[in-house]
Amino acid sequence: MVAQGVSTNHYPMLIGGEWVERTESPIEVINKYTGEVIATVSEATDQDVERALAAADGAAETMASMPAYERAAILRRAEALLLERKEEFARVIALEAGKGLKFARTEVDRAAQTLGFSAEEARQIHGETVPMDASPRGVGKLGFWIRTPIGVVAAITPFNFPLNLVVHKVGPALAAGNPVILKPASYTPITSYLLAQVLVEAGVPAGAINVVFGPGGRVGGRIAADNRTRKVTFTGSAEVGQRLIQTAGIKKVTLELGNASPVIVDADADVEAVARKCAVASFYNSGQVCISVQRIFVHREIFDAFSERMLAEVELLKVGDPLDEATDVGPMIDVGEAIRVDEWVREASAGGARVLTGGRREGPVYYPTVLDQIQPDMKVVCQEIFGPVTSLIPFDDFEQALEEADKTQYGLQAGIFTKDINKAFRAVRKLNYGGVMINEVPAFRVDNMPYGGNRLSGLGREGVRYAMEDMTNLRMVVINEG
Ligand code: NAP
Repeated sequence: MVAQGVSTNHYPMLIGGEWVERTESPIEVINKYTGEVIATVSEATDQDVERALAAADGAAETMASMPAYERAAILRRAEALLLERKEEFARVIALEAGKGLKFARTEVDRAAQTLGFSAEEARQIHGETVPMDASPRGVGKLGFWIRTPIGVVAAITPFNFPLNLVVHKVGPALAAGNPVILKPASYTPITSYLLAQVLVEAGVPAGAINVVFGPGGRVGGRIAADNRTRKVTFTGSAEVGQRLIQTAGIKKVTLELGNASPVIVDADADVEAVARKCAVASFYNSGQVCISVQRIFVHREIFDAFSERMLAEVELLKVGDPLDEATDVGPMIDVGEAIRVDEWVREASAGGARVLTGGRREGPVYYPTVLDQIQPDMKVVCQEIFGPVTSLIPFDDFEQALEEADKTQYGLQAGIFTKDINKAFRAVRKLNYGGVMINEVPAFRVDNMPYGGNRLSGLGREGVRYAMEDMTNLRMVVINEG
């Protein structure tokens, strides 16, 4: 499916059903572990962005009139095609995102499931009748609402799950009968190119899926601000989310932003099992996960035992090349990010925090780091670190731990480990988060559950069906029965 004349290591964009190659200012894609350039992709000109907007707008009618069973069939085919190419996708994710191969494979499986959920939900879109005669004014009227496709969906995505988080936008958009313009993260464009191939082969009509590459501020900003775009769905940093919401104008916006995820481990928790879960959930993908465990509140009675067990679990993690099957922790997305994380850890250490393990950088690799004796105003706990660093914080009183876990600007997901059902209920009521996991880490997610944040963690929910609700408009129909 590569355009004629395009070399295998320079990738085109997809605009209006055509593979469009630009060579003027190619964007380099780096192997995040070795720093080598592995490929380049085309950068969209302003005219390309305009053509993508026009193509998507032009495909809106085709998508809106496509029957649900056809949309479902296309998504099912895409699911199958993705699984056929699982290993190719996983290797590209490992190279361009620096994600350990075993985790990259899991991401491909999850993305296939997300396409499957999208196919199922495409068949389920329906409305509801309204009891009009609840008001004297409504007597003699039949009322119901239906869902109609919203129109062009702009999907702007981050680097850390370059496949599944893209599919979480593209799948529901197509399922709901909308065309899409996708602007993936510049660090990880090749995965989106491969996904575009899969979608075209699965039968998505020309113009209904467009993929453009280029700097977020210029390319993403333009797509989001244009009035032909009727919905912006963004996953990324709170900083960019703030900017987008100011420029988007009157259109629906979903923002999936960051977190500084807390876990509360009460005195009756199974220390060994919980420490193992926390070690994986703190350091998987080098902590570059929006629901990565960052603050672990541990009851003082078990604090020393937990700390010891956590360090033992961290020892077992293999740090290295993501292409190595055994690697648990690979590089960060770039050296600059690893340097930033190192600076935050040093700042905490200078302020009195103890580095129990890690605190060491080798190029883009930052070693899994566990801190204790932190202060609540240190960046390592009050801002999203988005790196392989977690902090152990002792508590004496469960209520106080709930207060501390909730004292944050974020609100994506939180986790509690306790055998006391009353404490679990209190946590569910108290924590102002989009998701509260009981006896599970906050990093837990399956792809059909509603997922999204409160406060600075964002607006709206994903999870296919919930994403689709915001990718449709309600249309009220009233029939005068005479
Ligand atoms: P980012 O820097 O905000 O970038 C995300 C996307 O936005 C990229 O495609 C980027 O393009 C684009 N962008 C940048 N500036 C823009 C602008 N002014 N207008 C429009 N688009 C713009 O985020 P990231 O570093 O890739 O991802 C890390 C963040 O994502 C973390 O905060 C993490 O918590 C969050 N995240 C949240 C979730 C969730 O579901 N809640 C999931 C994963 C990640 P370029 O790449 O070209 O800059």
